[in-house]
Amino acid sequence: MFLKKDGIMVILSSPSGAGKTTLVKLLSERNNFNISISHTTRKPREKETKNKDYYFVDETEFNELIKNDEFLEYAKVFNNLYGTTKSPVIKRLKNGENVIFDIDWQGADQIKNKKLDFKLITFFILPPSKEILFERLSNRDMKDKLIVDERMKEFSRDVLHWINYDYVIINDDLEKCYQKIKNLIDNEINNTPKSYDKNFIRSHVEKLTS
Ligand code: 5GP
Repeated sequence: MFLKKDGIMVILSSPSGAGKTTLVKLLSERNNFNISISHTTRKPREKETKNKDYYFVDETEFNELIKNDEFLEYAKVFNNLYGTTKSPVIKRLKNGENVIFDIDWQGADQIKNKKLDFKLITFFILPPSKEILFERLSNRDMKDKLIVDERMKEFSRDVLHWINYDYVIINDDLEKCYQKIKNLIDNEINNTPKSYDKNFIRSHVEKLTS
């Protein structure tokens, strides 16, 4: 049972390049959302800060966490392991704090299937077009064309999971996208959930993957 005094969980997932990380930061800065810090075996990128963006660990440490059943969820993404540890999340939620997760569809599925006693709202973020996605992926720290191609392919596979989310939002304008998410969260908290146009999203996904 979801108790009003408990915090809520909000998951934002998206294929790489849809602008999700910026949205997570906005939601956390402007609202009382704590960003869940994941563990990963990926190497830090230039602008990343240790223990803030991620807890960077090696495979042995990661496997130790799996063995000790510390993860709420974990998954392999682009050949690296990523996972969310249970105790900091549960502690915050019980303390009435809201937690936001920037995790992929595998992690979102695992958390959903756990059916925890906390309210969970899941969002899937889509880029406005294939061209913009390509541009965003090319402008990242992945100058290597092969990596961009690989992520475009990965995109076509990952995007199919949109159907398992509560809401799907197209990120054509960061501020508008933020407002939509914020309003949907408020509606959910006030028990007045809104639906979204699945047919429109389906045809948008078809265009993105055609
Ligand atoms: P990046 O390496 O670009 O930071 O993240 C790659 C992907 O891994 C993103 O889709 C991100 O949402 C996902 N990810 C980050 N942390 C976690 C986590 O703890 N669990 C899962 N399942 N996915 C994660």
